[in-house]
Amino acid sequence: MSIANHACRLPAWKTIPGVRHAVAEARRDGRTIGLVPTMGALHEGHAALIREAAARTDFVVVSIFVNPTQFGPGEDFARYPRNLEGDLAICDAAGAGGVFHPEVEEMYPHGKGHAFVEVEGVTESLEGPIRPGHFRGVATVVLKLFQIVAADVAFFGEKDYQQLVVVRRMVEELNLPIAIEAVPTVREPDGLALSSRNAYLSVEERARAAVLWRALSSARAAVAGGEASGDRIRQILRRTLESEVGLPDIDYAEVVDSESLMPLERVDGSRAARALVAVRLGKTRLIDNTPLP
Ligand code: AMP
Repeated sequence: MSIANHACRLPAWKTIPGVRHAVAEARRDGRTIGLVPTMGALHEGHAALIREAAARTDFVVVSIFVNPTQFGPGEDFARYPRNLEGDLAICDAAGAGGVFHPEVEEMYPHGKGHAFVEVEGVTESLEGPIRPGHFRGVATVVLKLFQIVAADVAFFGEKDYQQLVVVRRMVEELNLPIAIEAVPTVREPDGLALSSRNAYLSVEERARAAVLWRALSSARAAVAGGEASGDRIRQILRRTLESEVGLPDIDYAEVVDSESLMPLERVDGSRAARALVAVRLGKTRLIDNTPLP
């Protein structure tokens, strides 16, 4: 079942029976299983997830699947970057045990999919209203991957903070027998969070993109300095973003409760708080977030 279609010797499976067989063998050997779901075009952020998974579990499966059902019409599904050879080398170097990279038809044999997972509440703010259907696609494909790989632990990046919260909520509500581990965001020297979508940025946009981290850092500094008003922290986020991004291109600049994702009036340490921003730079949409101290 393992296909040697690349220079490194990492096992790679395109079929569900293929990866299931390898996972079952590892489990028979008494090994624990880790899963790192990705959409490929891997970078150092993904590598950090794989390394963490390899440190915490015995056999790490990385899935690489650009999931069509989480992209809306007019989003970047068709042009999303794809680079399997490079991805396999990164997985190998970071300690993966194998890579599951199915075609769309393997995951959705009946077309667009006919059974879905809806997570309510935590999908209703931030990205939810802006990308209708996105989290339904994410939750559904993540549940499918959990069913296919049957891992003990799955690893997700804080970079996509709302996605992490949605997956955690799904696991709790549906009693899925898997643990979810979060990995902190890996950043460029100027603070820009690594993202496969950064490849879309022109040189000029790339320079302006550092404003997301500047905005989040200003919010952190304000809270550290005693600012507790949610609205004033939102204002700091917006003002900083507006130095590089026009108002219509700011999708949100929010301060929310870290668990419910509902807007917070006060950031006073009584509840864990998080600042999240989403902006459009030319044709590229960028998101980032940070815990507020
Ligand atoms: P993606 O391939 O963009 O779907 O991301 C796959 C996983 O990698 C998700 O759990 C992301 O949150 C995580 N990830 C993406 N970028 C980063 C980053 N810069 N640092 C840490 N994790 C990341």
